[in-house]
Amino acid sequence: MATPTPPQAGGGLLDRLRGDERRQPYTARKITALTVNPGCERRAVLDAAGVDKQKLALRLGQPMPFGQSPLAITRQRAFDDQLKAYGYAELITLLRAELGVPVEEAAVADLNTVGENADLPPRAAETKNLLRAIAEDREYRLILDHPILTLDVAGTTAYLEPDAVSHRIGDQLHVVLVRSFAAVDGQANAGKVAEAAKQAAVYVLAIRQTLQASGLPIDLVSDRFLLVLPKDFTNRPYGRLVDLRQQLDAVQYQLDRLATVESRAAALSPEATLDLSHNAEGQPAASADQLLRTVEELPRLYGPRCLDMCELSRYCRDSAVNEHDPSHLGSGVRDSLPGLENTSTALAFARGERDDVAETQKEVVALLWTAAELRARRLGGGAS
Ligand code: SF4
Repeated sequence: MATPTPPQAGGGLLDRLRGDERRQPYTARKITALTVNPGCERRAVLDAAGVDKQKLALRLGQPMPFGQSPLAITRQRAFDDQLKAYGYAELITLLRAELGVPVEEAAVADLNTVGENADLPPRAAETKNLLRAIAEDREYRLILDHPILTLDVAGTTAYLEPDAVSHRIGDQLHVVLVRSFAAVDGQANAGKVAEAAKQAAVYVLAIRQTLQASGLPIDLVSDRFLLVLPKDFTNRPYGRLVDLRQQLDAVQYQLDRLATVESRAAALSPEATLDLSHNAEGQPAASADQLLRTVEELPRLYGPRCLDMCELSRYCRDSAVNEHDPSHLGSGVRDSLPGLENTSTALAFARGERDDVAETQKEVVALLWTAAELRARRLGGGAS
């Protein structure tokens, strides 16, 4: 069953841009995606406004299937259940092995519901109470299972749900993330580990924000997290502590930057709208043309990595290709052509079809001429 999502508070201008459509909540995955492509203003504004990017892509005629496959979700659930069976026996064993202290007396607070209530605000309130109790030493050996953390993201309250927070060990709490990709001989897919680390960093910052708001020390939360994976080709769990310091800085930087997103939205034209709602007669509040014009007012920073992490990637890729934007060939090509607006311009200079070189383009055009000359010699077989 999907976790109920509460309405979330947000900025006035960004709310107006979204119109009557329900705000899409920030998730740890969304926040970390911003660190992958921090220069993309388009995504920053869409996420801050809580626009459903999947729906928007559909309205722009470029839908993109996204999210975990049903098979991956089933595998993840089965692994989660296994860790929690028999009073969380396997999770507690891992904590003992990886964090190196006796944990026999550890108790678990199951925060999947509070009473019978699965709503996020009461679960978040209970999580806060327990974190404070742990920080003040009123609760010592308490593992939090699926706590709900809150994080202020550009004036919006994001509700975030890590798999677990360990009990207090050596005066530190650790975020625990359970993932279903395998660790074979102690090695796991580096990209997936990095992605999990970024999400863990978001959770660490959220716990620290909660403690700070209560005047409690934030260094109670470790800057390492425990990543739990299936071991080799079995379903036995394997745990590894992963350092988060770099990710904490990257995520904090993005969160600070998001606080200025509203000023970017303020620069949009007065008729700009991202309203995806429909009226009672089923008529869309905004036409596809209006939506497209607004999206085009927001500068994109497309790169091939967008395909893995953004619902608008098909739309942005096609625009980049049509405009001969070098970014669709990757950041390496884009960064090699500073001052040249597109690949057509670069080719025109390289082929000698243009010689109106601006002062700021001199260096890159000289490199292009050298490259073109070398290529011609190679193809002509006359290299000296
Ligand atoms: S796909 Fe488009 S909106 Fe999404 S991050 Fe890339 S450039 Fe930005």
